[in-house]
Amino acid sequence: MLEAIELIKRFPVRDSSAEVHALNGVSLTVARGETLGIVGESGCGKSTLAEVLVRLQQPTSGRVILDGVDLTALRGAELRRQRRKIQLVFQDPYSSLQPRQTIGRTLTEVLRVHRIGATAAARAGRMRELLDQVGLAPGHADRYPHELSGGQRQRVGIARALAVEPSVLLLDEPVSALDVSVRAEVMNLLARLRDELDLGFLFISHDVAMVRQLSDRVAVMYLGRIVEQGPWRPVLDAPIHPYTSGLRGAVPIPDPAIEQPITATVIGEVPNPVDPPAGCTFHPRCPLAEERCAEEEPSLTELAADHAAACHVMARRLIN
Ligand code: SF4
Repeated sequence: MLEAIELIKRFPVRDSSAEVHALNGVSLTVARGETLGIVGESGCGKSTLAEVLVRLQQPTSGRVILDGVDLTALRGAELRRQRRKIQLVFQDPYSSLQPRQTIGRTLTEVLRVHRIGATAAARAGRMRELLDQVGLAPGHADRYPHELSGGQRQRVGIARALAVEPSVLLLDEPVSALDVSVRAEVMNLLARLRDELDLGFLFISHDVAMVRQLSDRVAVMYLGRIVEQGPWRPVLDAPIHPYTSGLRGAVPIPDPAIEQPITATVIGEVPNPVDPPAGCTFHPRCPLAEERCAEEEPSLTELAADHAAACHVMARRLIN
């Protein structure tokens, strides 16, 4: 349903000819009823990816296909019409809610702007349906954002995204700002809505545990590239790429002569995306790096069933 093809995004750096390399050839697909989890540290390009997919940012090159329509080729009214099908849910819905507008008014305004519901009564009816869908009571329609808890506000954020009847939700750290006790409720709500409405989800998070809970497939991003991709269980429980292993805490050293794998933790910061390292961009932090890694960029290659990774050392080990 959603397909990104070789997305590249560069941002100019002010007063300089340098560029931020935010996305470096990201390709992915999301099917109806499926969740693709995107995991990586901050600065890896996850949020730029979300903005490019909803066309808040125009990619430098590459295409975004939604329900068979190339969003990157559209402009003006047609782009606005098609963009409705893909909605972004933010980490902090509070900042995007009007403080002086009741929740009911916020939702009916979205319906009115998008010409959903012919009359005010029809829009009010749909607004109550939306509240019910996200587990809020009819009385919440008369409340203001500051009168709601964090979890209730995120439910409003989800209702607002659903109001325009999208096919895909881009969930950018949707539960990271919530209390731990509320996170599970919102995650369960999201899973129920995905299944009931047959939505495609792109679930973006730095939290591997959250990604594990909701995802069918997972893509791991590092410095604007997908370095590992596949079904969630092998990617998160038996990762191939040293960076994914590092996100989980330790990197197995692939030496057949060593029976008990030695582990090493990924250290250091994500390098500056204005001047990314040559070769494998992970090599300055990688405990497995060898000479070739600083010179040659590894390509994302299927190394196990439906499970791809971009790593010279692991490819040599698994293919031989
Ligand atoms: Fe590490 Fe080399 Fe693999 Fe990159 S290609 S992840 S530096 S071993």
